Amino acid sequence: MPELPEVETVMRALARRLEGRRFEGVVQRRPNLRFPLPLNLPLRLEGRRVEGFARRAKYIQARLDDGQALLLHLGMSGRLVFDGGPMGPHEHLTFAFDDGTVLRFVDPRRFGMLDLCPSDGLATHPWFRRLGLEPLDPGFDGKALRSALEGTRTALKVALMDQRRVVGVGNIYASESLHRARLAPHRPAGGLGAGEAEALARAVRAVLAEAILAGGSSLRDYVQTNGELGGFQRNFRVYDRAGLPCVDCGSMIERRVQGGRATFFCPSCQS
Ligand SMILES: [Zn+2]
Repeated sequence: MPELPEVETVMRALARRLEGRRFEGVVQRRPNLRFPLPLNLPLRLEGRRVEGFARRAKYIQARLDDGQALLLHLGMSGRLVFDGGPMGPHEHLTFAFDDGTVLRFVDPRRFGMLDLCPSDGLATHPWFRRLGLEPLDPGFDGKALRSALEGTRTALKVALMDQRRVVGVGNIYASESLHRARLAPHRPAGGLGAGEAEALARAVRAVLAEAILAGGSSLRDYVQTNGELGGFQRNFRVYDRAGLPCVDCGSMIERRVQGGRATFFCPSCQS
């Protein structure tokens, strides 16, 4: 499943190719993905100009020149592919633009989501209403993170992955961030000191920024819009490294299951 860095990478690629472009033709091949697609979608997009792109959590937003925003979530297996050859079996939507660019939405498992809504109503859209802190926003710091985690005895790693507290810290990035901040993944999330929260906020930002630079890191089934795999996995310090030595202290990395997901950590650095 694409995580926040992959989605950010995809959003930037879309912005480079499509900002200022006009939808010329839209082909919709089914009425729904995870949810029903907006009524009259092709009609509502054709002729509209794309003014800009943004991202909130794993939702890509394209602002259109009629005050609407096109929202897109890649779900489990969704991909956006520029140009390419003949239509494949899982190509559900095809967007053609006024400069000849063709963008295809391919999604074998169909957990992708797409909606159209007024640009100024995004904050109250059901998909956005309950989202937590955005870790790449300038306001994301130790203080904000500490208050988002306050009062819970949930394990720190599980709480860090809770989208209602902080968005976009997926399983890989949670393990990597906690190792950099030298915090144990199983300690209660509510007990962070100010310095610890600051270190964790810094680590989350750094890990996500590195992953974005590397073009995202999903391990399976994910290809960037230019057809290349992301390269962040070369930077993993703990993720998927059980039994290997910690890069900082040489102790053996351990694996533990938390909330149904594998956590990797160094028992010496993160005690
Ligand atoms: Zn260590």
